[in-house]
Amino acid sequence: MNILVINCGSSSLKYQLIDSSNENVLAKGLCDRIGIADSFIKQTVTGKDATVINVDLKDHNIAIAEVVKALTSKEYGVIESLADISAVGHRIVHGGEKFCESVIIDDEAMKAIEDCVPLAPLHNPANIIGIKACQAAMPGVPQVAVFDTAFHQTMPSEAYMYALPYEYYTKHGIRKYGFHGTSHKYVAERCAALMEKPIEDLKIITCHIGNGGSIAAVKGGKCMDTSMGFTPLDGLEMGTRSGILDPAVVLFLMDNENLSSKDMNTVLNKKSGLAGVSGVSSDMRDVTAAAKEGNERAKLALDIFAYRVKSYIGQYAAVMNGVDAIVFTAGIGENDIATRLACASGLEYLGVTVDAEKNNVRGGEVEISADGSKVKVFVISTNEELAIARETARLTK
Ligand code: ADP
Repeated sequence: MNILVINCGSSSLKYQLIDSSNENVLAKGLCDRIGIADSFIKQTVTGKDATVINVDLKDHNIAIAEVVKALTSKEYGVIESLADISAVGHRIVHGGEKFCESVIIDDEAMKAIEDCVPLAPLHNPANIIGIKACQAAMPGVPQVAVFDTAFHQTMPSEAYMYALPYEYYTKHGIRKYGFHGTSHKYVAERCAALMEKPIEDLKIITCHIGNGGSIAAVKGGKCMDTSMGFTPLDGLEMGTRSGILDPAVVLFLMDNENLSSKDMNTVLNKKSGLAGVSGVSSDMRDVTAAAKEGNERAKLALDIFAYRVKSYIGQYAAVMNGVDAIVFTAGIGENDIATRLACASGLEYLGVTVDAEKNNVRGGEVEISADGSKVKVFVISTNEELAIARETARLTK
């Protein structure tokens, strides 16, 4: 059964075609510059060179129709016809409180996804356009929504509520939702499998640290807390996002720098984090290189980064009354050997010891804790597309 996985943004659309019987990726691709000049599709069929198709992608409907053409192309495609796509799985950023798991998209689900637009005004509209385009191009093919927020819906109210006047929760849905849920769930499940223990018996801290980053406390397979909040701005220092700060700083800066809410939004989401502190780049590789050359602000950005990860690990060990395993995943978590070591060092009181030699890895599924470390530490490559394909296959079988 071939599953088409769609991750639709406002001007780009990523896709993968996965054979769910053996979980092989048949093809992956990107539609870029949708609605802008010089749009194109770049498709790679597994085992072959990438093909760039220069085509006018006026809107998402045309993009999806062109994806179907590219996948079924005699020249550079991988399937015979549309009939070879059994179901479509969509990554949906926000499911609010309405979705605690993936669903088959029917009229009711579509309405509920639309109701979540105010919570993710930049992301959900693009996701909805992607669903509608697929419905138009592939009538009768079941569509499934897999939400970034769903896994975190098990958080207890003391974790997800802010200490604000209660009516803002009831009126606007102001609470912590959390993101990257598909990834946290996937790596937590892989961690339990690697430990050969039922996930129900484990307390796992999952660190998804990429350009955006979040940490989750996963007890018995259920999320107890996570570092992103009402939006993906909260928590860790990220590529360009500030993460946690005293909310009074926002008010002070708006007053004293004469910033509008739009300006402030740009500062917090686009000009902060690694980029803002270091003044070098939002990319961890650039910041690390600058720190090595003696750039003090780059070094500070790295120190803040590791300090925050470590603080959340301590916090979540407290939340779960212990921890059995810590997982590092995503761009930095999988690849950045030094940052990983910095994040997991000085945690001996918790029973965490990383073996520097075992830690000398990039990606894969590898235990990096020292022999005798009470808490197991793993690097586990995340695979959100595969997780979405699995959910889609499960619901449409
Ligand atoms: P996104 O949140 O956009 O999906 P990724 O998970 O791809 O981000 O992570 C991107 C981050 O991973 C960047 O900061 C990048 O510098 C970092 N990264 C990727 N490869 C390496 C590497 N080999 N060493 C250090 N950092 C890396």
